[in-house]
Amino acid sequence: MRCVVANWKMNLASGEAKSFCEDLLVHMGPEPESEVGIAPPYTLLHLVSSLVRTKGLRVFGQNGHAEAKGAFTGEISMPQLRDAGCSGVILGHSERRQFFGETDAALAKKIKAAWQWDLLPLLCIGESLAQRDADQTLAVLGQQLSILAETGPGPLWVAYEPVWAIGTGRRAEAAQVLEAHAFIRAELNRLLPETGSQVPILYGGSVTPESFPELLGIPEVAGGLVGGASLDPGKFAELVKQAG
Ligand code: PEP
Repeated sequence: MRCVVANWKMNLASGEAKSFCEDLLVHMGPEPESEVGIAPPYTLLHLVSSLVRTKGLRVFGQNGHAEAKGAFTGEISMPQLRDAGCSGVILGHSERRQFFGETDAALAKKIKAAWQWDLLPLLCIGESLAQRDADQTLAVLGQQLSILAETGPGPLWVAYEPVWAIGTGRRAEAAQVLEAHAFIRAELNRLLPETGSQVPILYGGSVTPESFPELLGIPEVAGGLVGGASLDPGKFAELVKQAG
């Protein structure tokens, strides 16, 4: 199964989101074979969900708190995401780790909370440029995945997103993607012996319709998590078509 997820980050307002969804559904044609998701900002969750969920698309939150409710100003909880129409939640995006101090310990709790509220976690992992240059890529990925020893098995997608490739126009090379995805698969199999082989591993980092076909040909690449190119309904529909 292939998966393509749009991460809108902190972009678009309601009028733009509405016309995006309408355009996307026209461009995409009949229901795609692959799993397609959109992760809008929180204020657009209800709207996007009402427009695309009947068409079989998933809606993801871009983050979610581990607690179900309480005094956490500015946060959003898993049951609130569920209530707004989400069936999944992106967790551990590098922008959350980098700018908002997201830790692996917090992520383990968030994954368990997502499961409790029947949300599919899309766990993002990836190395910084300094870590790659210091030959620490696989060690970093191993560390970020090690939280799965604590969470145990459950519905899960993983996205490999080298931090230096996000929003930079500098996509990882095929050999780098191949090595990282093979390592992630081996770690998933080791940490989750019953279910690890079933977890789709998406690639993220400057994916475009020009680069996606090559990426999809790399073993263990099950699809893409897409930022910049997902803000254009035509481009995103093209990625969905390429995924099949
Ligand atoms: C992302 O934000 O997850 C991402 C991959 O962004 P971009 O496609 O713009 O690199």
